[in-house]
Amino acid sequence: MCYPKVAGGWNIINLELWNKAAICKQLWNVLKKKDKIWVRWIHGYYMKQQDWKTMPIPSQAAWVVKKILGARDYMATLPDGDTLMEQDNFSIKKLYIALRGTPEKRNWHHMISKSIAAPKCLFILWLAIMKRMTTCDRLQKFGIQCDQTCCLCSQGIESLNHLFFLCPYSANVWDKLAMWCGVQRKAGAWDDEVEYLERQGASKTGKQLMYRLLVATIVYHIWRERNERRFNSKASHEESVVRQCKLMMVVRGELNPKVHKMFVN
Ligand SMILES: [Zn+2]
Repeated sequence: MCYPKVAGGWNIINLELWNKAAICKQLWNVLKKKDKIWVRWIHGYYMKQQDWKTMPIPSQAAWVVKKILGARDYMATLPDGDTLMEQDNFSIKKLYIALRGTPEKRNWHHMISKSIAAPKCLFILWLAIMKRMTTCDRLQKFGIQCDQTCCLCSQGIESLNHLFFLCPYSANVWDKLAMWCGVQRKAGAWDDEVEYLERQGASKTGKQLMYRLLVATIVYHIWRERNERRFNSKASHEESVVRQCKLMMVVRGELNPKVHKMFVN
């Protein structure tokens, strides 16, 4: 979740790493801002002309001083840590990015970052793309025993692929909604879908935006229906799921003139 959006994350700041980078800036202040009174105090009482990289951390020093001097351990993990400390400017953000590393780009990120679907739908879709949905086949791998039969069709084994595509219930929902919004494509297996979406790249045509909206909305509603059946013993007919999807798609479609126009037509 802390990766950038292009790497398939949500660009949420990793506070632990950010804190480390901020402490490193205090160490840089100690080395570079020798005119400040608190820095002079640290030099006078604790450092006493010793090298910051090798000096023992004074055991009697205050907690905060130990933390600042101990930040050298984080810098030691970076190949250019010494250079960063020598520079005349220090950016917490740049150090944070260096500590976090540069993750690999994910081509499907447009599916999440360039979609007009509701945030709750995008989050569920993101979990599905990352293969982190708690479907029964995964629960089994964690050693959690549960009835593995798909609760939508009472036939197949509940897996990501079955629940969202192969299940006759879901396939009907897909077909009806795809026909309704003029999408020609017939949904395949999960990996095929992700691959197809990767190939579409950042395209922002009305058709692509509509397709992204369709996928996120269907995945969310099928997952909700599965949870309603499994935990609340409430089952809805597929027509009702289709209606809920249509309503949500029309409401979200108003956010983009191209998609809105397609609904009006
Ligand atoms: Zn099923």
